[in-house]
Amino acid sequence: MTTPEELPGWTHTYSGKVRDLYVPASTADGAAPERMLVVASDRVSSFDYLLEPPIPGKGELLTTLSLWWFDRLAGSDGGTPIPNHLVPGATVPDAVAGRAMVVHALDMLPIECVVRGYLTGSGWGEYQGSQTVCGIQLPDGLHNGDRLPAPIFTPAYKAPFGQHDENISFDRVVELVGAEHADQIRALSLDIYRRAAATAAEHGLILADTKFEFGVAPDGTVTLADEVLTADSSRYWDAAAWRDGTTPGERMASFDKQIVRDWLTQRWDRTGQPPRLAADVVARTAARYRELIERLTA
Ligand code: ATP
Ligand code: MG
Repeated sequence: MTTPEELPGWTHTYSGKVRDLYVPASTADGAAPERMLVVASDRVSSFDYLLEPPIPGKGELLTTLSLWWFDRLAGSDGGTPIPNHLVPGATVPDAVAGRAMVVHALDMLPIECVVRGYLTGSGWGEYQGSQTVCGIQLPDGLHNGDRLPAPIFTPAYKAPFGQHDENISFDRVVELVGAEHADQIRALSLDIYRRAAATAAEHGLILADTKFEFGVAPDGTVTLADEVLTADSSRYWDAAAWRDGTTPGERMASFDKQIVRDWLTQRWDRTGQPPRLAADVVARTAARYRELIERLTA
């Protein structure tokens, strides 16, 4: 991993697979910071592996899209305002302008709040074995890429760095974060998914599934954090291709990381080092991320 850049006024504290986190340089040793700077890099990960080379412009595209969705979900889409982690009016250092956000440091809940409106990916894998996804019973006869009767909340445990996230039941979420937070994050996740899917549909896009992370603010407010509804955290398909396509490949024409996943799956069995991404995959992924933003925000 490349060393995160030095930013005046901020101290680097942590790097996830994709983002670099900083706290104000004024934060005393050992003290909990009030704010953080989240810098989105161009790094790309798939199946929890970091890949090379990075996707040029990706950090900026993800940040642009997150900020656009945070604004919609704060009420500009006409729905109930969803509290989010952005610090209004805060400025980010010039060196990372366009790909960083100043956020309230939250006590993060260790749950990946996945919502699926369509059946594919690991959900499709589980369904083929047991006709369930995260223990939720589904109708029989569904195909890869089919729309579900209603969106479902299919949480995963957010594994510590270097380990793989694991699908869990709602009962397990209750054990991990308590009944009240579990109910709240499920309700919020389903509400956000429905609103975002409706917005996507207005732009000829399907939001097949997505993942949210929530944290708890000092006053106890469950708050939407991390990135939201980006091409990294969501599967977006072209609605016309899904309707008219006859093969799974045609139906699920991706605007997201699936391009990278498909390319990798064809050449790699997920043991040892992943292969270096070919130039055309990098270019295609960058172009589709860009196209997604153009279509959504048009
Ligand atoms: P990992 O944390 O295992 O590295 P990741 O690859 O998803 O997972 P990134 O997305 O690159 O990590 O880094 C972002 C990190 O910042 C995540 O751990 C996320 O939970 C955390 N985070 C996001 N928003 C906030 C916030 N407002 N307060 C505290 N932590 C946050
Ligand atoms: Mg993440």
